[in-house]
Amino acid sequence: MATLGAPWGRLLAGPPAQHGAEDLASHERRMGPLQLPGDRHDLLGTVTAAGLLGRGGAEFPLAVKLRTAADAATMTAAPLVVVNGSEGEPASRKDRTLLEHRPHLVLDGAEVAAAAIGATDIVVYVHAGRPTTPAVIHRALAQRAVTSWSATRIHVVEAPDRYVAGESSAVVAVLEGRGPLPSPRRVPVAACGVEGRPTVVANVETMAHLALVARFGPRWFGEAGTEGAPGSTLLTLAGGVSVPGLVVEALGPVTFGEMLRSHGGWAGPPAAVLVGGYGGQWVEGDALWSAPVDRAALRAVGTRLGCGLVAPLPPGACGLAVTVRLLRYLAGESAGQCGPCMYGLPALADALGAVASGRAGRGEVRRLGRAALSSRGRGDCSHPDGAADLVETALHVLADDIAAHVRRGTCGGHATGWFPVPADGAGRAAWSNLGNDNW
Ligand code: SF4
Repeated sequence: MATLGAPWGRLLAGPPAQHGAEDLASHERRMGPLQLPGDRHDLLGTVTAAGLLGRGGAEFPLAVKLRTAADAATMTAAPLVVVNGSEGEPASRKDRTLLEHRPHLVLDGAEVAAAAIGATDIVVYVHAGRPTTPAVIHRALAQRAVTSWSATRIHVVEAPDRYVAGESSAVVAVLEGRGPLPSPRRVPVAACGVEGRPTVVANVETMAHLALVARFGPRWFGEAGTEGAPGSTLLTLAGGVSVPGLVVEALGPVTFGEMLRSHGGWAGPPAAVLVGGYGGQWVEGDALWSAPVDRAALRAVGTRLGCGLVAPLPPGACGLAVTVRLLRYLAGESAGQCGPCMYGLPALADALGAVASGRAGRGEVRRLGRAALSSRGRGDCSHPDGAADLVETALHVLADDIAAHVRRGTCGGHATGWFPVPADGAGRAAWSNLGNDNW
C-alpha cells in the first residue's frame, strides 16, 4: 500500500503532497520520456493485453472503448478523448489527488488514448467546485506545450457539481451544452458521442494507469492486482477513519483489514463499511476485514468497489441515520427526467427517515425493501440502482440498528463520521453556463 509521495507507489509515487503538482521535468526524470509501443494497432494490442478496467465505477474494459472508437472513426467524425475528472462522489478524493499532484501522468494517459484512436481533441473534464484543479492542469499544459509530441488539442472544461455529471452520456450532454442529463443510448458514446464523434470517456485514474501501461507494458502492469483485475487500485478512506479523505494505493495482495489497520486507525473489524460510494453497498465489517482489496473478488460476491470509497461506520454511530442522510442527498441529485427516480427516490428517503425516527413498524420496513427493489432499472441511467443498493444493503447489514429504531425509536447512535454531502443545490445553477463554447 502506498500513499502520496511513497517511492514504491505506482500512481502516487513522486514528490510528497506538500510539494504540490509534480512538474514536467520531475515527472520525466522519474518516469523517463513517454515512447509509444509502435503504431495504433500495436497500442490497442498492448491495452487489450493489459486488461485495464475503468476505475470510475463501471469497471468497463478500456480496450473495448478504444477499439469501438477507433472502428467508428471516419474522416468527418474525428474521435475525441475525455479525461473524466468530475468525481461526483462527494467523499472521493482519488481523481482530484491525481490531477492536482500527478497531472503529467494523467495527461500522458490521455495522449496515449488519443494516439490509439486517432483523436484530434482531448477534453479534461474537471469538477467545477474545485477551482485549484483547472489552474494545475493549465500550468501543466503550458509546460507540455514546449515538448509535446502530440498535435492533439487539449481543452479544460468544468463539470457541473452534480452526482450524475460523470455518467458518460451526461458528459456528452454537458459538452454539447445541454447540462448534466444522462440519457439512454442504443449506441455507446465510444461509437457516437459528442456531436456524433466517437468519444472515449475514461476516468482520471484509468488514464494514469494507461500512461504506465504504455511505458512499462502489460506484464509489468499485471504484477500488481490480480488476474481478474490487474493493476493497482486507488481507494479513498472516509467515514470513521483517522485521516478522512486519505487516498491509498493498494498494490498487491492486501486485505481490507490490513488497509484499515495501517491507514484507517482500526484495530479490528468495524460493524459495517460502506463500499464503492454513496450509491454503493453496506458490507458487514467482519466479512470485509479478511476480504482482499480486489475488484474481481468483490464482484464475485456481488460487491462493487466502484469509485474506491471505503467508509467504515464509526463506533457508536447510527448507520441508519447515515443512510437516511446519504439517501436524501442521492434523491436530490436526480436529474429529474425519469419518474421512478425523480419521485421514487425522495419517497424512499422519506420512508427510511420514518423508520429512523421511530414512526414506522416492521411492515413498513418490509415495504421499503420492495420499494427499493422496484426502483431498480427504472431510470435512464443507473442512479436509482445505486440508491437501491444503499437501501437494500442497509436493511440487511444494519438490521439490528433498524430493529432498535422500530422498537424504541432510536439505537442510541448518531449520524457521525466523515460522510460529506454538498450543500443543497450548490451546483445546480452552474451547468447552464457550461457547454461546448468552453472548448
Ligand atoms: S435515472 Fe434519475 S439521474 Fe438518471 S437520467 Fe433518470 S432522472 Fe436522471
